[in-house]
Amino acid sequence: MKKTAACFALCLCLTIALAARAPQQAPQPKPEDVLKNLVLVENIQPVPEKMKAGFEAITGKDSVTLLSYISSDLLEGRETATRGFELAAEYAASLFSLWKLKPAGDAPGIPAGRRALAAFGPGGSQGMSPQEKTFLQGLALKETLDGSTEISLESRAGSTVKSRIFSPGIDFAGEGVPNETVEAPVVFAGYGIIEKEIGYNDFKGLDVKGKIVLILTEAPGKNDPKSPFQLNKELKEKYFPAAPRFPFRRGGFNKLQEIDKLGPAAVLQVAAYGKDSDLFKQMSAPARPFSDERPTNEPRRRLALPGGGRMPFERFMGITISREMANAILESTGQKIEDLQKKIDAATKPASMEIPGARLSVRTVSSSKLVQCRNVLGFIEGSDPVLKNEVVVVGAHLDHLGRRGDYIFNGADDNGSGAVGVMNLARAFAANPQKPKRSVLFCLWTGEEEGLLGSRYYVRNPAFPLEKTVAYLNLDMISRPYDEAALERASRMFNIPAGKDLVKKITPADFLAVSFSAGDGLADILKEANQHVGLDLFLRESSGRSGRDMGGSDHSSFASVKIPWMFCIAAMTEDYHQTSDSVEKVSGELMEKISRLNYLAAYALADR
Ligand SMILES: [Zn+2]
Repeated sequence: MKKTAACFALCLCLTIALAARAPQQAPQPKPEDVLKNLVLVENIQPVPEKMKAGFEAITGKDSVTLLSYISSDLLEGRETATRGFELAAEYAASLFSLWKLKPAGDAPGIPAGRRALAAFGPGGSQGMSPQEKTFLQGLALKETLDGSTEISLESRAGSTVKSRIFSPGIDFAGEGVPNETVEAPVVFAGYGIIEKEIGYNDFKGLDVKGKIVLILTEAPGKNDPKSPFQLNKELKEKYFPAAPRFPFRRGGFNKLQEIDKLGPAAVLQVAAYGKDSDLFKQMSAPARPFSDERPTNEPRRRLALPGGGRMPFERFMGITISREMANAILESTGQKIEDLQKKIDAATKPASMEIPGARLSVRTVSSSKLVQCRNVLGFIEGSDPVLKNEVVVVGAHLDHLGRRGDYIFNGADDNGSGAVGVMNLARAFAANPQKPKRSVLFCLWTGEEEGLLGSRYYVRNPAFPLEKTVAYLNLDMISRPYDEAALERASRMFNIPAGKDLVKKITPADFLAVSFSAGDGLADILKEANQHVGLDLFLRESSGRSGRDMGGSDHSSFASVKIPWMFCIAAMTEDYHQTSDSVEKVSGELMEKISRLNYLAAYALADR
């Protein structure tokens, strides 16, 4: 599809949707509890002899060497199901073979999925001996290329029927669900908010099931300090989040997802604050070459696991419409969107209503096909004749955003660094003469940037039975050290009480926040491992089981099948998802320390 509008429209929606996705902080733990989770090491202890060889095989210098190739222009940003990714996967598989790991992927020549199932029965290639396998686990993905969305309005007044067609990139930004047409009556639901604690409910007495819902973005009273949405700190943070200076945190409140639970056919948003000219400027702006938007002449490409349930992009993300279009839809009510907004804001009281005689149709046409991609899987076998059938899994995504015209997203930190971390551990365990009792499986995932596709596929097609999988360690972005500013931001985000003596002892460059599932004894494993590494660790026990409260990376796939998990992520920087995320900015020293920490933690889990 040609229209630039679609790309920028999507970014606009995303921008607005993100505005609606204020980072919902988990309830803030008390400062003294937070301090308990800060682990500083006065004197680094020597590593136990039996794990020493592997530990010392991990070096910052080798990490940067591996990363220089993985994040080179040659691999074109390693986008899922592209040549660049395949080159990276083959490279990793050849190193796994060089280090004498055992393959845990598909049988040679046998494509993945259903045919493997047919060929080898329910366990797929699980029951096969390693020498009959490869290091690559193939998966089929559904590729959907951007289509075009057309919205038309039919308004009935008595015997008169008026139709109007709205144009993408002029009247609205964003698109509907690929290859779906929705036609339904329309209702106006104010800001689309339900906040019981202040007795505010835009949906009271309004039936939105199967209807198209028109709402305003954000919330009432943005510029009114006396508004309940301003006076209540949580609501203010939720609906008017201070614009994050650095990449947003995934997860948290999402107004559209909340409304989606009420079962509407579609949601149209009109910007509550700001002018139509802003929307038009956005929609007509040329693509920013270095950004991860696709150049104008390239349709956007999205991937999904076939039969894997609807992906976020296959559910309604909301379309942003101009005020002019909103007023055309509201015509039969005799009211304008501006008047309705003023009415609501004046008393912080809803003004929701059915829009008599109005029916909208949202029709989206796009093209889809199946493509193939692969995870890389290799393992070292445990030394115990029984426990070797149990496994500790260590993983990281190898894919990134690819290229946009001449601009390549090298993804050195995201997630070339994590992939190198997994390679570091694979080589270390292979080099370490004494193997732990249980086996250790090393995984490089595809499709994380597209929705955790590779790891979600794996937990449905595991190389080792899930009930024999004792833990999963995830590495994502482990190469950028904190600096004072980043640490200050992180302290705020983690509610670490600034100014306390202990906090003053933190060395930003050694700071690492590690998240992990609750109740699996992982905090002790980390504390013990860190005695031999000396990072300034901040332990974040996850309150949820989904793992999403600690960042949406591949550990969430394992959390979803209730496998204990650990997740390491270093500093978030301005280079996140930018073409500027390149190897010369990484710290080999930090990669060495985080890899060594995970090596010792994985060894302890596999040997206990
Ligand atoms: Zn990542």
